[in-house]
Amino acid sequence: MGADIDVDVAILGSGLAGLRAAIEAARTGRDKLVVGVFTKTQVMRSHSVSAEGGTAAVLYTDEGDSFQSHIYDTVKGSDFLADQDAVELFVKKAPEEILQLERWGMPWARRPDGKIAQRFFGGQSYPRACFAEDKVGFFEMSTLYDTSLKYDNIVFYPEWAAVDLFVENGKFKGFAALELKTGKIHKVSAKACVLATGGAGRLYSFATFGYSSTPDGYYMAYKAGVPLKDMEFVQFHPTALVPSGILITEAARGEGGILVNAKGERFMKKYAPEKMELGPRDIISRAMYNEMAEGNGVEGPDGVKHLYLDLRGLGEEKIKTRLAGIREYCMHLAGIDPIDEPIPVRPAAHYYMGGVDTNIYGATQVAGLWAAGEVGCVSINGANRLGSNSTTECLVWGAITGKAAAEYVLAGHNHSSVNNSDSIAIEKHVYDELLGKAPRENPYDIRDQLQANMERTCHIYREEKTMLEGLQTIRNLKQKMFRGVVDSSRYYNTNLMNVLEIEMMIETAEVILVSALNRRESRGAHARLDYPKRDDVNFLKHTLAYYTEDGPRIEYVSPVITEYVPTERRY
Ligand SMILES: Cc1cc2nc3c(=O)[nH]c(=O)nc-3n(C[C@H](O)[C@H](O)[C@H](O)COP(=O)(O)OP(=O)(O)OC[C@H]3O[C@@H](n4cnc5c(N)ncnc54)[C@H](O)[C@@H]3O)c2cc1C
Repeated sequence: MGADIDVDVAILGSGLAGLRAAIEAARTGRDKLVVGVFTKTQVMRSHSVSAEGGTAAVLYTDEGDSFQSHIYDTVKGSDFLADQDAVELFVKKAPEEILQLERWGMPWARRPDGKIAQRFFGGQSYPRACFAEDKVGFFEMSTLYDTSLKYDNIVFYPEWAAVDLFVENGKFKGFAALELKTGKIHKVSAKACVLATGGAGRLYSFATFGYSSTPDGYYMAYKAGVPLKDMEFVQFHPTALVPSGILITEAARGEGGILVNAKGERFMKKYAPEKMELGPRDIISRAMYNEMAEGNGVEGPDGVKHLYLDLRGLGEEKIKTRLAGIREYCMHLAGIDPIDEPIPVRPAAHYYMGGVDTNIYGATQVAGLWAAGEVGCVSINGANRLGSNSTTECLVWGAITGKAAAEYVLAGHNHSSVNNSDSIAIEKHVYDELLGKAPRENPYDIRDQLQANMERTCHIYREEKTMLEGLQTIRNLKQKMFRGVVDSSRYYNTNLMNVLEIEMMIETAEVILVSALNRRESRGAHARLDYPKRDDVNFLKHTLAYYTEDGPRIEYVSPVITEYVPTERRY
Protein backbone atom coordinates (compact mmCIF):
# COMPACT_ATOMS: atom_id res chain seq x y z
CA MET A 1 0.00 0.00 0.00
CA GLY A 2 1.27 3.45 -0.87
CA ALA A 3 0.63 6.79 0.72
CA ASP A 4 -2.75 7.82 2.12
CA ILE A 5 -2.42 11.24 0.60
CA ASP A 6 -0.54 12.58 -2.37
CA VAL A 7 0.05 16.27 -3.03
CA ASP A 8 2.40 18.05 -5.39
CA VAL A 9 3.70 20.65 -2.95
CA ALA A 10 3.38 20.20 0.80
CA ILE A 11 3.66 23.22 3.07
CA LEU A 12 4.27 22.34 6.71
CA GLY A 13 2.99 25.18 8.87
CA SER A 14 0.46 27.94 8.33
CA GLY A 15 2.15 30.98 9.87
CA LEU A 16 3.22 33.93 7.76
CA ALA A 17 5.91 31.92 5.97
CA GLY A 18 3.67 28.92 5.30
CA LEU A 19 0.69 30.90 4.02
CA ARG A 20 2.87 33.13 1.84
CA ALA A 21 4.57 30.02 0.42
CA ALA A 22 1.22 28.31 -0.20
CA ILE A 23 -0.15 31.27 -2.15
CA GLU A 24 2.97 31.53 -4.29
CA ALA A 25 3.08 27.80 -4.99
CA ALA A 26 -0.64 27.78 -5.85
CA ARG A 27 -0.27 30.80 -8.10
CA THR A 28 2.75 29.32 -9.90
CA GLY A 29 1.03 25.98 -10.39
CA ARG A 30 -2.52 27.16 -10.98
CA ASP A 31 -4.64 24.44 -12.66
CA LYS A 32 -1.65 22.10 -12.55
CA LEU A 33 -0.55 21.52 -8.96
CA VAL A 34 -2.22 20.63 -5.69
CA VAL A 35 -0.75 22.44 -2.70
CA GLY A 36 -1.42 20.86 0.70
CA VAL A 37 -1.00 23.00 3.83
CA PHE A 38 -0.49 20.76 6.87
CA THR A 39 -0.54 22.54 10.19
CA LYS A 40 -0.39 21.42 13.80
CA THR A 41 -2.80 24.13 14.99
CA GLN A 42 -5.80 25.76 13.38
CA VAL A 43 -4.48 28.11 10.68
CA MET A 44 -5.14 31.33 12.58
CA ARG A 45 -3.62 29.96 15.78
CA SER A 46 -0.10 30.06 14.36
CA HIS A 47 2.31 32.12 16.43
CA SER A 48 2.56 34.74 13.65
CA VAL A 49 -0.89 35.97 14.68
CA SER A 50 0.67 37.42 17.81
CA ALA A 51 3.33 39.51 16.03
CA GLU A 52 2.75 42.97 17.38
CA GLY A 53 4.91 45.87 16.38
CA GLY A 54 5.86 45.98 12.73
CA THR A 55 7.30 44.69 9.46
CA ALA A 56 10.44 46.34 8.12
CA ALA A 57 10.94 47.59 4.57
CA VAL A 58 12.45 50.60 2.85
CA LEU A 59 9.56 52.57 1.34
CA TYR A 60 10.68 56.19 1.10
CA THR A 61 14.07 56.59 -0.54
CA ASP A 62 12.98 60.11 -1.53
CA GLU A 63 12.65 60.99 2.17
CA GLY A 64 16.02 59.72 3.34
CA ASP A 65 15.83 55.93 3.76
CA SER A 66 17.87 53.66 1.49
CA PHE A 67 18.47 49.98 0.73
CA GLN A 68 22.06 50.47 1.78
CA SER A 69 20.99 51.69 5.19
CA HIS A 70 18.64 48.72 5.79
CA ILE A 71 21.38 46.33 4.65
CA TYR A 72 23.98 47.90 6.91
CA ASP A 73 21.66 48.09 9.95
CA THR A 74 20.82 44.40 9.53
CA VAL A 75 24.44 43.30 9.06
CA LYS A 76 25.64 45.38 12.00
CA GLY A 77 22.70 44.13 14.08
CA SER A 78 23.75 40.55 13.26
CA ASP A 79 27.22 41.28 14.68
CA PHE A 80 28.54 40.70 11.15
CA LEU A 81 27.56 37.04 10.99
CA ALA A 82 24.67 37.45 8.52
CA ASP A 83 25.27 36.42 4.91
CA GLN A 84 25.42 39.76 3.17
CA ASP A 85 24.17 38.49 -0.20
CA ALA A 86 21.06 37.16 1.55
CA VAL A 87 20.56 40.45 3.40
CA GLU A 88 20.74 42.35 0.11
CA LEU A 89 18.12 40.07 -1.47
CA PHE A 90 15.95 40.48 1.64
CA VAL A 91 16.11 44.28 1.66
CA LYS A 92 15.41 44.56 -2.07
CA LYS A 93 12.42 42.19 -1.98
CA ALA A 94 10.90 43.62 1.23
CA PRO A 95 9.04 46.62 -0.31
CA GLU A 96 7.40 44.35 -2.92
CA GLU A 97 5.97 42.23 -0.12
CA ILE A 98 4.56 45.26 1.73
CA LEU A 99 2.84 46.43 -1.45
CA GLN A 100 1.68 42.92 -2.32
CA LEU A 101 -0.03 42.64 1.08
CA GLU A 102 -1.53 46.08 0.53
CA ARG A 103 -3.09 44.88 -2.74
CA TRP A 104 -4.49 41.84 -0.95
CA GLY A 105 -6.21 44.11 1.58
CA MET A 106 -3.76 44.65 4.44
CA PRO A 107 -4.91 47.66 6.50
CA TRP A 108 -1.51 49.30 7.00
CA ALA A 109 -1.54 52.35 9.30
CA ARG A 110 -1.42 55.61 7.34
CA ARG A 111 0.33 58.94 7.62
CA PRO A 112 -1.71 62.14 7.34
CA ASP A 113 -0.72 62.29 3.63
CA GLY A 114 -2.31 58.88 3.05
CA LYS A 115 0.93 56.95 2.55
CA ILE A 116 1.85 53.85 4.58
CA ALA A 117 3.10 54.93 8.02
CA GLN A 118 6.35 53.61 9.51
CA ARG A 119 7.87 53.71 12.97
CA PHE A 120 11.22 53.08 14.65
CA PHE A 121 12.42 49.70 15.86
CA GLY A 122 15.71 48.96 17.62
CA GLY A 123 18.92 49.21 15.60
CA GLN A 124 17.26 51.06 12.69
CA SER A 125 18.82 54.23 11.30
CA TYR A 126 15.46 55.21 9.85
CA PRO A 127 11.89 54.44 11.00
CA ARG A 128 11.05 51.60 8.63
CA ALA A 129 8.60 49.31 10.46
CA CYS A 130 5.19 49.29 8.73
CA PHE A 131 2.39 48.51 11.15
CA ALA A 132 -1.31 48.11 11.83
CA GLU A 133 -1.94 49.26 15.40
CA ASP A 134 0.20 46.86 17.43
CA LYS A 135 -1.46 43.80 15.90
CA VAL A 136 0.54 43.54 12.70
CA GLY A 137 0.69 39.73 12.72
CA PHE A 138 -3.05 39.35 13.16
CA PHE A 139 -3.81 41.62 10.21
CA GLU A 140 -1.10 40.07 8.02
CA MET A 141 -2.31 36.56 8.78
CA SER A 142 -5.93 37.49 8.09
CA THR A 143 -4.91 39.05 4.78
CA LEU A 144 -2.92 35.98 3.71
CA TYR A 145 -5.52 33.47 4.90
CA ASP A 146 -8.30 35.32 3.04
CA THR A 147 -6.14 35.40 -0.06
CA SER A 148 -5.24 31.72 0.17
CA LEU A 149 -8.95 30.82 0.17
CA LYS A 150 -9.23 32.22 -3.35
CA TYR A 151 -7.03 29.40 -4.66
CA ASP A 152 -8.96 26.21 -5.10
CA ASN A 153 -5.72 24.28 -5.57
CA ILE A 154 -4.78 24.88 -1.92
CA VAL A 155 -6.08 22.19 0.46
CA PHE A 156 -5.82 22.78 4.21
CA TYR A 157 -5.14 20.03 6.72
CA PRO A 158 -5.55 21.82 10.07
CA GLU A 159 -4.48 19.99 13.24
CA TRP A 160 -2.28 17.59 11.30
CA ALA A 161 1.18 17.46 12.86
CA ALA A 162 4.09 16.27 10.78
CA VAL A 163 6.09 13.84 12.90
CA ASP A 164 8.74 12.40 10.55
CA LEU A 165 10.21 13.44 7.20
CA PHE A 166 11.09 10.82 4.58
CA VAL A 167 14.18 11.28 2.45
CA GLU A 168 15.58 8.74 0.00
CA ASN A 169 18.91 9.08 -1.80
CA GLY A 170 19.14 12.74 -0.85
CA LYS A 171 15.65 13.49 -2.20
CA PHE A 172 12.56 14.42 -0.22
CA LYS A 173 9.61 12.13 -0.80
CA GLY A 174 7.06 12.77 1.90
CA PHE A 175 6.32 12.65 5.58
CA ALA A 176 4.19 11.09 8.31
CA ALA A 177 1.54 13.25 9.94
CA LEU A 178 -0.50 12.65 13.07
CA GLU A 179 -4.10 13.76 12.53
CA LEU A 180 -5.05 14.97 16.00
CA LYS A 181 -8.77 14.42 15.57
CA THR A 182 -8.49 10.71 14.81
CA GLY A 183 -5.03 9.81 16.13
CA LYS A 184 -4.28 8.28 12.75
CA ILE A 185 -0.78 8.52 11.34
CA HIS A 186 -1.06 9.33 7.66
CA LYS A 187 1.61 8.79 5.08
CA VAL A 188 1.82 11.81 2.79
CA SER A 189 3.69 11.74 -0.50
CA ALA A 190 4.79 15.11 -1.87
CA LYS A 191 7.13 15.98 -4.70
CA ALA A 192 8.31 19.12 -2.94
CA CYS A 193 7.98 20.53 0.55
CA VAL A 194 8.40 23.88 2.28
CA LEU A 195 9.11 23.53 5.96
CA ALA A 196 7.55 26.54 7.72
CA THR A 197 6.99 25.25 11.23
CA GLY A 198 8.15 28.40 13.06
CA GLY A 199 10.63 29.00 15.85
CA ALA A 200 11.96 26.50 18.41
CA GLY A 201 9.64 28.18 20.85
CA ARG A 202 9.20 27.16 24.43
CA LEU A 203 12.56 25.68 25.30
CA TYR A 204 12.66 28.34 28.01
CA SER A 205 10.00 28.86 30.69
CA PHE A 206 9.87 32.67 30.52
CA ALA A 207 9.13 33.05 26.83
CA THR A 208 6.94 35.12 24.54
CA PHE A 209 5.90 32.10 22.45
CA GLY A 210 2.58 30.30 22.48
CA TYR A 211 2.55 26.78 23.98
CA SER A 212 2.26 25.10 20.59
CA SER A 213 5.57 26.65 19.46
CA THR A 214 7.96 23.73 19.78
CA PRO A 215 10.95 22.80 17.61
CA ASP A 216 9.26 20.10 15.51
CA GLY A 217 10.57 21.33 12.17
CA TYR A 218 14.12 21.78 13.45
CA TYR A 219 14.24 18.28 14.83
CA MET A 220 12.61 16.56 11.83
CA ALA A 221 15.00 18.21 9.36
CA TYR A 222 18.01 17.55 11.60
CA LYS A 223 17.12 13.91 11.93
CA ALA A 224 16.60 13.66 8.18
CA GLY A 225 20.21 14.78 7.66
CA VAL A 226 19.94 18.54 7.21
CA PRO A 227 22.28 20.45 9.55
CA LEU A 228 20.99 23.05 11.99
CA LYS A 229 22.86 26.34 11.64
CA ASP A 230 23.82 28.85 14.37
CA MET A 231 21.50 27.39 16.99
CA GLU A 232 23.48 28.95 19.86
CA PHE A 233 22.01 32.37 19.04
CA VAL A 234 18.77 32.75 21.00
CA GLN A 235 17.21 36.18 21.19
CA PHE A 236 15.93 37.49 24.51
CA HIS A 237 13.45 40.29 24.03
CA PRO A 238 14.01 43.01 26.63
CA THR A 239 10.40 43.70 27.48
CA ALA A 240 8.12 40.84 28.43
CA LEU A 241 5.29 41.58 30.84
CA VAL A 242 5.82 40.32 34.40
CA PRO A 243 4.69 37.76 35.46
CA SER A 244 3.04 36.28 32.32
CA GLY A 245 5.88 36.70 29.78
CA ILE A 246 3.49 38.23 27.23
CA LEU A 247 5.43 40.44 24.83
CA ILE A 248 5.35 44.21 25.14
CA THR A 249 6.36 45.20 21.63
CA GLU A 250 9.56 47.09 20.87
CA ALA A 251 7.27 49.56 19.10
CA ALA A 252 6.43 50.85 22.58
CA ARG A 253 10.01 52.14 22.72
CA GLY A 254 9.88 53.08 19.03
CA GLU A 255 6.99 55.38 19.92
CA GLY A 256 8.98 56.94 22.78
CA GLY A 257 8.74 54.61 25.80
CA ILE A 258 11.70 54.61 28.19
CA LEU A 259 13.30 51.99 30.45
CA VAL A 260 13.90 52.83 34.10
CA ASN A 261 15.33 50.97 37.09
CA ALA A 262 14.13 50.84 40.70
CA LYS A 263 15.78 54.22 41.38
CA GLY A 264 13.87 55.77 38.49
CA GLU A 265 17.08 56.13 36.44
CA ARG A 266 17.02 55.87 32.66
CA PHE A 267 19.86 53.35 32.74
CA MET A 268 20.31 52.82 28.97
CA LYS A 269 22.45 55.96 28.84
CA LYS A 270 25.25 53.88 30.40
CA TYR A 271 25.01 51.10 27.81
CA ALA A 272 23.97 52.63 24.45
CA PRO A 273 24.38 56.39 24.88
CA GLU A 274 23.34 57.25 21.33
CA LYS A 275 20.51 54.83 20.60
CA MET A 276 19.34 54.47 24.23
CA GLU A 277 16.14 52.36 24.29
CA LEU A 278 16.38 51.88 20.53
CA GLY A 279 19.60 49.90 20.70
CA PRO A 280 19.49 46.30 19.45
CA ARG A 281 17.86 43.63 21.62
CA ASP A 282 21.01 41.77 22.65
CA ILE A 283 22.56 44.92 24.09
CA ILE A 284 19.40 46.06 25.90
CA SER A 285 18.71 42.62 27.38
CA ARG A 286 22.27 42.49 28.75
CA ALA A 287 21.93 46.00 30.13
CA MET A 288 18.73 44.98 31.94
CA TYR A 289 20.37 41.85 33.30
CA ASN A 290 23.30 43.93 34.60
CA GLU A 291 21.01 46.51 36.21
CA MET A 292 19.14 43.80 38.06
CA ALA A 293 22.38 42.02 39.06
CA GLU A 294 23.68 45.31 40.48
CA GLY A 295 20.68 45.59 42.78
CA ASN A 296 18.71 48.09 40.71
CA GLY A 297 15.77 45.77 40.01
CA VAL A 298 12.35 45.73 41.60
CA GLU A 299 11.08 42.63 43.44
CA GLY A 300 8.43 41.06 41.19
CA PRO A 301 5.17 39.26 42.00
CA ASP A 302 6.81 35.98 40.93
CA GLY A 303 9.77 36.56 43.24
CA VAL A 304 12.04 37.47 40.32
CA LYS A 305 13.47 40.95 39.80
CA HIS A 306 12.19 43.21 37.03
CA LEU A 307 12.52 46.77 35.69
CA TYR A 308 10.01 49.25 34.27
CA LEU A 309 8.98 50.33 30.80
CA ASP A 310 7.45 53.76 31.18
CA LEU A 311 5.01 54.90 28.48
CA ARG A 312 3.44 57.73 30.43
CA GLY A 313 5.24 60.35 28.35
CA LEU A 314 3.45 59.18 25.18
CA GLY A 315 0.04 60.40 26.26
CA GLU A 316 -3.33 58.71 26.19
CA GLU A 317 -4.12 59.30 22.51
CA LYS A 318 -0.95 57.64 21.17
CA ILE A 319 -1.24 54.67 23.52
CA LYS A 320 -4.87 54.12 22.59
CA THR A 321 -4.35 54.35 18.84
CA ARG A 322 -0.90 52.84 18.29
CA LEU A 323 -0.40 50.51 21.25
CA ALA A 324 -3.95 49.40 22.00
CA GLY A 325 -3.05 45.71 22.13
CA ILE A 326 -0.34 45.98 24.75
CA ARG A 327 -2.55 48.28 26.83
CA GLU A 328 -5.17 45.50 26.87
CA TYR A 329 -2.53 42.92 27.91
CA CYS A 330 -1.29 45.17 30.73
CA MET A 331 -4.80 45.79 32.01
CA HIS A 332 -5.94 42.17 31.81
CA LEU A 333 -2.78 40.35 32.80
CA ALA A 334 -1.00 42.74 35.17
CA GLY A 335 -3.84 44.94 36.38
CA ILE A 336 -2.20 48.20 35.34
CA ASP A 337 -3.03 50.84 32.74
CA PRO A 338 0.17 52.03 30.99
CA ILE A 339 -1.41 55.46 30.51
CA ASP A 340 -1.04 55.96 34.28
CA GLU A 341 1.58 53.48 35.49
CA PRO A 342 4.93 52.06 34.32
CA ILE A 343 4.90 48.47 33.04
CA PRO A 344 6.87 45.77 34.94
CA VAL A 345 9.11 44.00 32.41
CA ARG A 346 12.09 41.69 32.13
CA PRO A 347 13.78 39.88 29.20
CA ALA A 348 12.22 36.68 27.82
CA ALA A 349 13.22 34.10 25.19
CA HIS A 350 11.67 35.40 21.99
CA TYR A 351 13.32 34.27 18.77
CA TYR A 352 15.85 31.78 17.36
CA MET A 353 18.34 33.29 14.95
CA GLY A 354 19.50 29.82 13.96
CA GLY A 355 17.57 27.15 12.14
CA VAL A 356 17.51 24.67 9.31
CA ASP A 357 20.50 25.36 7.06
CA THR A 358 19.49 26.67 3.65
CA ASN A 359 21.09 28.45 0.73
CA ILE A 360 20.14 32.01 -0.21
CA TYR A 361 16.95 30.75 -1.89
CA GLY A 362 15.76 28.76 1.10
CA ALA A 363 16.74 25.37 -0.38
CA THR A 364 18.14 22.74 2.00
CA GLN A 365 20.75 20.12 1.13
CA VAL A 366 17.89 17.66 0.52
CA ALA A 367 16.52 17.99 -3.03
CA GLY A 368 12.83 18.99 -2.95
CA LEU A 369 12.98 20.39 0.59
CA TRP A 370 12.96 24.10 1.40
CA ALA A 371 12.71 25.94 4.72
CA ALA A 372 11.24 29.42 5.24
CA GLY A 373 10.42 31.73 8.13
CA GLU A 374 11.75 31.33 11.64
CA VAL A 375 12.56 27.62 11.25
CA GLY A 376 14.98 28.41 8.40
CA CYS A 377 18.42 30.00 8.60
CA VAL A 378 19.22 31.79 5.34
CA SER A 379 20.99 33.65 7.21
CA ILE A 380 19.99 37.31 7.46
CA ASN A 381 19.95 37.43 11.26
CA GLY A 382 23.42 36.15 12.08
CA ALA A 383 24.06 36.47 15.81
CA ASN A 384 21.22 38.92 16.53
CA ARG A 385 18.02 39.78 14.64
CA LEU A 386 16.70 43.31 14.41
CA GLY A 387 13.07 43.75 15.45
CA SER A 388 10.51 43.86 12.61
CA ASN A 389 12.81 41.97 10.21
CA SER A 390 11.31 38.56 10.97
CA THR A 391 7.80 39.05 9.64
CA THR A 392 9.41 40.49 6.50
CA GLU A 393 11.72 37.48 6.27
CA CYS A 394 8.68 35.16 6.45
CA LEU A 395 7.03 37.03 3.58
CA VAL A 396 10.14 37.28 1.39
CA TRP A 397 11.27 33.66 1.78
CA GLY A 398 7.72 32.35 1.89
CA ALA A 399 7.29 33.77 -1.60
CA ILE A 400 10.71 32.63 -2.86
CA THR A 401 10.42 29.05 -1.58
CA GLY A 402 6.75 28.59 -2.56
CA LYS A 403 7.58 29.57 -6.12
CA ALA A 404 10.75 27.47 -6.23
CA ALA A 405 8.94 24.38 -4.89
CA ALA A 406 6.18 24.70 -7.49
CA GLU A 407 8.66 25.24 -10.32
CA TYR A 408 10.62 22.19 -9.17
CA VAL A 409 7.50 20.04 -9.50
CA LEU A 410 6.50 21.61 -12.81
CA ALA A 411 9.98 20.83 -14.14
CA GLY A 412 9.11 17.16 -13.66
CA HIS A 413 11.72 16.06 -11.12
CA ASN A 414 11.01 12.43 -10.43
CA HIS A 415 10.82 11.11 -6.90
CA SER A 416 9.70 7.97 -5.18
CA SER A 417 6.45 7.68 -3.26
CA VAL A 418 6.09 6.99 0.40
CA ASN A 419 5.37 3.35 1.17
CA ASN A 420 4.42 1.33 4.21
CA SER A 421 7.98 0.62 5.28
CA ASP A 422 8.75 4.34 5.61
CA SER A 423 6.30 4.85 8.43
CA ILE A 424 6.97 1.65 10.39
CA ALA A 425 9.35 3.28 12.88
CA ILE A 426 7.11 6.21 13.76
CA GLU A 427 3.96 4.05 13.92
CA LYS A 428 5.71 1.62 16.24
CA HIS A 429 6.87 4.50 18.42
CA VAL A 430 3.43 6.12 18.68
CA TYR A 431 1.14 3.10 18.83
CA ASP A 432 3.34 0.51 20.56
CA GLU A 433 5.69 2.55 22.75
CA LEU A 434 3.61 5.59 23.75
CA LEU A 435 -0.17 5.11 23.58
CA GLY A 436 -1.63 3.40 26.62
CA LYS A 437 1.77 3.02 28.30
CA ALA A 438 2.19 4.58 31.75
CA PRO A 439 5.39 6.65 31.88
CA ARG A 440 7.53 6.22 34.95
CA GLU A 441 8.13 9.96 35.08
CA ASN A 442 5.59 12.68 34.38
CA PRO A 443 6.42 14.17 30.95
CA TYR A 444 5.35 17.63 32.10
CA ASP A 445 7.86 17.48 34.97
CA ILE A 446 10.50 16.63 32.37
CA ARG A 447 9.44 19.64 30.31
CA ASP A 448 9.64 21.89 33.38
CA GLN A 449 13.11 20.58 34.16
CA LEU A 450 14.22 21.16 30.58
CA GLN A 451 12.97 24.74 30.58
CA ALA A 452 14.44 25.52 34.00
CA ASN A 453 17.73 24.05 32.85
CA MET A 454 17.83 26.28 29.74
CA GLU A 455 16.94 29.34 31.86
CA ARG A 456 19.76 28.55 34.28
CA THR A 457 22.54 27.39 31.98
CA CYS A 458 22.07 28.90 28.51
CA HIS A 459 20.45 32.31 28.97
CA ILE A 460 21.56 35.89 28.28
CA TYR A 461 25.02 35.23 29.78
CA ARG A 462 26.74 31.88 29.43
CA GLU A 463 29.94 30.19 30.58
CA GLU A 464 31.54 26.81 30.10
CA LYS A 465 31.04 25.42 33.59
CA THR A 466 27.27 25.99 33.76
CA MET A 467 26.72 25.04 30.13
CA LEU A 468 28.47 21.71 30.73
CA GLU A 469 26.13 21.13 33.67
CA GLY A 470 23.24 22.10 31.39
CA LEU A 471 24.32 19.63 28.73
CA GLN A 472 24.67 16.87 31.30
CA THR A 473 21.13 17.59 32.55
CA ILE A 474 19.79 17.42 28.99
CA ARG A 475 21.53 14.11 28.41
CA ASN A 476 20.10 12.77 31.67
CA LEU A 477 16.61 13.93 30.63
CA LYS A 478 17.02 12.03 27.37
CA GLN A 479 17.44 8.82 29.37
CA LYS A 480 14.44 9.41 31.62
CA MET A 481 11.37 7.21 31.34
CA PHE A 482 8.80 9.86 30.43
CA ARG A 483 7.89 8.32 27.10
CA GLY A 484 4.39 7.05 27.55
CA VAL A 485 0.78 8.26 27.59
CA VAL A 486 -1.58 6.53 30.00
CA ASP A 487 -4.60 7.47 27.90
CA SER A 488 -4.89 5.07 24.98
CA SER A 489 -7.59 7.09 23.22
CA ARG A 490 -6.80 8.09 19.69
CA TYR A 491 -9.10 11.12 19.59
CA TYR A 492 -7.54 14.50 20.31
CA ASN A 493 -4.90 12.96 22.50
CA THR A 494 -3.02 16.14 23.28
CA ASN A 495 -0.86 14.34 25.83
CA LEU A 496 0.46 12.19 23.02
CA MET A 497 1.30 15.28 20.95
CA ASN A 498 3.00 16.86 23.96
CA VAL A 499 5.20 13.82 24.58
CA LEU A 500 6.31 13.85 20.95
CA GLU A 501 7.04 17.58 21.30
CA ILE A 502 9.03 17.10 24.51
CA GLU A 503 11.24 14.50 22.80
CA MET A 504 11.98 17.00 20.02
CA MET A 505 12.57 19.80 22.54
CA ILE A 506 15.23 17.78 24.38
CA GLU A 507 17.12 16.96 21.18
CA THR A 508 17.00 20.57 19.99
CA ALA A 509 18.13 21.90 23.36
CA GLU A 510 21.14 19.59 23.11
CA VAL A 511 22.07 21.18 19.76
CA ILE A 512 21.80 24.66 21.28
CA LEU A 513 24.06 23.77 24.20
CA VAL A 514 26.68 21.94 22.14
CA SER A 515 26.77 24.80 19.59
CA ALA A 516 27.05 27.36 22.40
CA LEU A 517 29.80 25.46 24.22
CA ASN A 518 31.86 25.27 21.05
CA ARG A 519 31.60 28.97 20.26
CA ARG A 520 34.33 30.32 22.52
CA GLU A 521 33.66 34.01 21.91
CA SER A 522 30.91 36.57 22.49
CA ARG A 523 28.93 37.68 19.47
CA GLY A 524 25.45 39.17 19.27
CA ALA A 525 23.06 37.31 21.53
CA HIS A 526 25.73 34.76 22.53
CA ALA A 527 27.49 36.46 25.47
CA ARG A 528 30.08 34.35 27.25
CA LEU A 529 31.48 35.45 30.59
CA ASP A 530 34.58 33.31 29.99
CA TYR A 531 35.17 34.65 26.44
CA PRO A 532 33.81 38.20 26.62
CA LYS A 533 35.28 39.42 23.28
CA ARG A 534 34.23 38.78 19.72
CA ASP A 535 36.89 36.66 18.00
CA ASP A 536 36.76 37.18 14.24
CA VAL A 537 39.96 35.20 13.68
CA ASN A 538 38.52 31.95 15.00
CA PHE A 539 34.75 32.41 15.01
CA LEU A 540 33.63 34.58 12.13
CA LYS A 541 31.78 31.51 10.93
CA HIS A 542 28.44 29.77 11.02
CA THR A 543 27.99 26.68 13.19
CA LEU A 544 26.53 23.63 11.47
CA ALA A 545 25.23 20.82 13.72
CA TYR A 546 24.67 17.40 12.10
CA TYR A 547 22.61 14.67 13.70
CA THR A 548 24.39 11.57 14.98
CA GLU A 549 23.13 8.96 17.42
CA ASP A 550 25.67 10.20 19.97
CA GLY A 551 24.67 13.84 19.76
CA PRO A 552 25.43 16.67 17.35
CA ARG A 553 28.59 16.76 15.23
CA ILE A 554 29.79 20.33 14.71
CA GLU A 555 31.27 21.83 11.54
CA TYR A 556 31.79 25.45 10.53
CA VAL A 557 31.33 27.45 7.35
CA SER A 558 32.27 31.07 6.61
CA PRO A 559 29.58 33.73 6.22
CA VAL A 560 29.25 35.57 2.91
CA ILE A 561 30.81 39.01 3.24
CA THR A 562 30.32 41.21 0.20
CA GLU A 563 30.73 44.78 1.34
CA TYR A 564 30.89 45.29 5.07
CA VAL A 565 33.99 44.11 6.87
CA PRO A 566 33.34 43.52 10.56
CA THR A 567 33.95 46.49 12.85
CA GLU A 568 33.21 47.05 16.51
CA ARG A 569 29.48 47.44 17.18
CA ARG A 570 28.58 50.67 18.95
CA TYR A 571 25.15 52.20 19.44
C1 LIG B 1 4.73 37.58 20.65
C2 LIG B 1 5.55 37.79 19.41
C3 LIG B 1 5.54 39.00 18.77
C4 LIG B 1 6.31 39.20 17.62
N1 LIG B 1 6.27 40.42 16.99
C5 LIG B 1 6.98 40.59 15.84
C6 LIG B 1 6.91 41.81 15.10
O1 LIG B 1 6.19 42.74 15.46
N2 LIG B 1 7.64 41.92 13.97
C7 LIG B 1 8.43 40.91 13.52
O2 LIG B 1 9.05 41.06 12.47
N3 LIG B 1 8.51 39.74 14.20
C8 LIG B 1 7.80 39.56 15.32
N4 LIG B 1 7.88 38.36 15.99
C9 LIG B 1 8.59 37.25 15.36
C10 LIG B 1 7.72 36.69 14.24
O3 LIG B 1 6.37 36.91 14.54
C11 LIG B 1 7.96 35.21 14.02
O4 LIG B 1 9.33 34.95 13.85
C12 LIG B 1 7.21 34.75 12.77
O5 LIG B 1 5.86 35.15 12.82
C13 LIG B 1 7.32 33.26 12.60
O6 LIG B 1 6.48 32.89 11.54
P1 LIG B 1 6.56 31.47 10.88
O7 LIG B 1 5.65 31.49 9.72
O8 LIG B 1 7.98 31.10 10.64
O9 LIG B 1 6.03 30.46 11.99
P2 LIG B 1 4.77 30.51 13.04
O10 LIG B 1 3.90 31.68 12.86
O11 LIG B 1 5.37 30.25 14.35
O12 LIG B 1 3.96 29.28 12.54
C14 LIG B 1 4.42 27.95 12.66
C15 LIG B 1 3.41 27.07 12.00
O13 LIG B 1 3.90 25.75 11.95
C16 LIG B 1 2.92 24.86 12.40
N5 LIG B 1 3.60 23.68 12.94
C17 LIG B 1 4.47 23.61 13.97
N6 LIG B 1 4.87 22.34 14.12
C18 LIG B 1 4.27 21.62 13.16
C19 LIG B 1 4.27 20.24 12.81
N7 LIG B 1 4.96 19.36 13.50
N8 LIG B 1 3.51 19.86 11.76
C20 LIG B 1 2.76 20.74 11.05
N9 LIG B 1 2.71 22.05 11.36
C21 LIG B 1 3.47 22.47 12.40
C22 LIG B 1 2.11 25.65 13.41
O14 LIG B 1 0.83 25.10 13.56
C23 LIG B 1 2.08 27.01 12.73
O15 LIG B 1 1.07 27.04 11.78
C24 LIG B 1 7.12 38.15 17.14
C25 LIG B 1 7.13 36.92 17.78
C26 LIG B 1 6.37 36.74 18.92
C27 LIG B 1 6.47 35.40 19.61
